[in-house]
This record gives sequence, structure tokens and C-alpha cells, in this order.
Amino acid sequence: MSSAAGEATRVGAVYVHAPFCARRCVYCDFAVTVRREGDLPAWIESLGAELRLVEAEGLFRLAPRLDSLYVGGGTPSLLGPGAMRGLAELLGRDRLQDPDLEWTAEANPESFTDSVARAWAEAGVNRISLGLQTFHAAGLKWMGRLHGVEGPARALEAARRAGINNVSVDLIFGLPSALGRSWEDDLERVLALDVPHVSLYGLTIEGGTALGRAVREGRESPVDDEQYREEFLRAAEVFTNAGYVHYEVSNFARPGAEARHNGRYWDGSPYLGLGNGAHSYCEPIRRWNVRDWEDYRTRLRQGKSPEGEREVVGADAAALERAWLALRTREGIVMPEATSLTGKIGLSWRDQGLAVFDQGRLRLTAEGWLVLDRLALEWDDAMSSIDLGKRVRD
Ligand code: SF4
Repeated sequence: MSSAAGEATRVGAVYVHAPFCARRCVYCDFAVTVRREGDLPAWIESLGAELRLVEAEGLFRLAPRLDSLYVGGGTPSLLGPGAMRGLAELLGRDRLQDPDLEWTAEANPESFTDSVARAWAEAGVNRISLGLQTFHAAGLKWMGRLHGVEGPARALEAARRAGINNVSVDLIFGLPSALGRSWEDDLERVLALDVPHVSLYGLTIEGGTALGRAVREGRESPVDDEQYREEFLRAAEVFTNAGYVHYEVSNFARPGAEARHNGRYWDGSPYLGLGNGAHSYCEPIRRWNVRDWEDYRTRLRQGKSPEGEREVVGADAAALERAWLALRTREGIVMPEATSLTGKIGLSWRDQGLAVFDQGRLRLTAEGWLVLDRLALEWDDAMSSIDLGKRVRD
């Protein structure tokens, strides 16, 4: 994982962005380009050109065997059956031979057909992340989703028929109450799918989206904080009671089905991101590509790097980031001395029901995860004062 001076870091975790969506969802501010179909030849050609530049630059070098490959979007399933075979050829088949490789591809129900599922499974995909969001017809329409309420079950069956049983579904909470969506009904229907993994996302309103504009113009209401809180806590209760482990603020898994790829982000491992808007990290450098697909593609066609920006993450910032990322997960952080500043903060979180102490570690509860951003700032302030104190004493 780490590299000796002058050597490129061997990267075992790769993210590949597929930018195409058939329609933009009302809340979406991802790096997406709207097309009826994905442009597979242009996608593969651009990724290949980027990979050659990455290899020539020498900061990252792909490991001989990847342990995690994640194809996200966008809607990767819009690229059709041949997409994953093309990607495998690009990355090198030998790199995808590790028997423990977790190869996830995101899919939307309307474009995840039997032929896509079969071809992806043959290429080596062994985990599907399915954008389900809700079973409520009016909610799907409001979001601009293209699948109906029966879409997720049909797509799940296609995955299972192709031999891919490791399926995660995305579920959204905090939808406007005026839609009349029943959260209990959605939770029950997700449990009935009997999938090993569920990702839970709260609706957020980003300024540049159709929803952001509608809220500014008074046509839609902002997210109701109390409903947001109740739905998150209820989902945590329902999934935990059903045997899922709430192993990260937004993720629930049957024991052993935790997503490996996200773990790489949370534990500070290096990862390479390919595609428009994709981020890469190799301590101490974080860099990200230009967001726009056409800009990304044009740069590569001209032989230029698609890198948009990069930053050097200093040692203090990296330590704080690690603490923040650890607070997101069930692992939590090593419990500091009770008399230290951070120890006192931990005690106060525990007394408020926001954290528990467990085997020498401080872990946030579901209540704590609801206010993760505030707690992370408190932690950040405490760590900064400790560092400042040290520097003053030095
Ligand atoms: S399908 Fe996903 S990536 Fe595409 S527009 Fe909707 S939310 Fe965004």
C-alpha cells in the first residue's frame, strides 16, 4: 500500500465514473450528462487515455491484483451489456483475478436487464448497487426516476438469475410529506427483498439542482428536520432489528456483507478514480478530475490531463480527517483519556446518548450520526486546541 521514496504507490482500489443518465433526477448534482443511451466507445476510449496518463505520471500504479473495483455514476447500466467486459480489457484481466475481488457496479432498475446482468456477471462483476429510492409511485415520479414500483424486484431477479446475489439497494428518506409516501411501507418492502446490504440517503437540497430552484422560488418546501430525524432513526431500528449491522452512518449490512470499497475511503487507503469528476487519493495528495464529461473527453483527446485540481493534505489535516471518517463508522475511534479535552467531549456525547464506549473505543449511536457534522466540528476544535497548546508549549 505504501511506497518507498521515488516509487509509485500500488493501488488496489479503483473507482470508475460512468457519467450518463437518461434523465436528471430533481435533487441530483452529480457529474452527470443526460443522454438516452451511454456512449460506450467514447467512455472506454477516454478511460484508456486517462489510465495511460496516470501510468506515465507515476504517482499511482495499479496493483497486480485489485481488491476493489467500483463503477459508479451516473447510470453505469445505461452503457449496456458490453460495458464491464470493455472495462476489464482496459484494466487488464489479470488484475481482476483475485478471488476476493469485490467488483461493484451501480445500476438503475429500468436499464438493468437480463442481458446486462448476464454479461456483467460473465465479465466478473459480483456486486450490484441498485438505485431503488422508494416504492412509492408518486415519489418516483416527483424525483424524475424512470422506473416503476416493480422495477427493483425485477432488476434484483435479473441479478440473481445471473448469479449475482450480493446486491445493495439505495433508499432515500426525507421526501416531502405532501407526496404521501409511507416510510413504513418502504422499509417493509425493502426487508422483503432480502438483500444483504442497504444504503440509506437523506434528501438534501443543493442550490444548483431543479429542487434547489423550486425551493428558492417557494414551489417546494425545505426538508422537514423532524421528519428527517424520525425516518433515519426508524430505519436504523428496523434494519438493526432485522439483523443488519449499522456499520456506517448511511450503510447497513448483513454480517460479512459490508462494502469493501467504501472501507478504503474511510480507512485512508490510496485509491485511484478514473472518469469525469472522479477523486483519487494517495497520501498526502488528493486530486480530482474536471466534472464535465465533454471537457474531460476533449482534454484526453488532446493528450492533456483531465485533472481539475489537487491539494496536499497536511499531517494535522490528515489526522483530523481520519478521526472524522472513523466517527462515521461503527469502528469509531480509540477512547481518549477521560481527563483530556477529547475525552471530556466523548463523555459528554455519551451522557447525551450520542455515543457509547465499547471495548476502549468511542462509537457514535444512530442519534449521534444524525448530528455527525456538529460532532465532527466539536472534535476538530478540541484536536486543534490540543495541537495549538502543544505548539505554544514547544
Ligand atoms: S440516476 Fe443517480 S446519477 Fe443519474 S440523475 Fe438520478 S440521482 Fe443523479
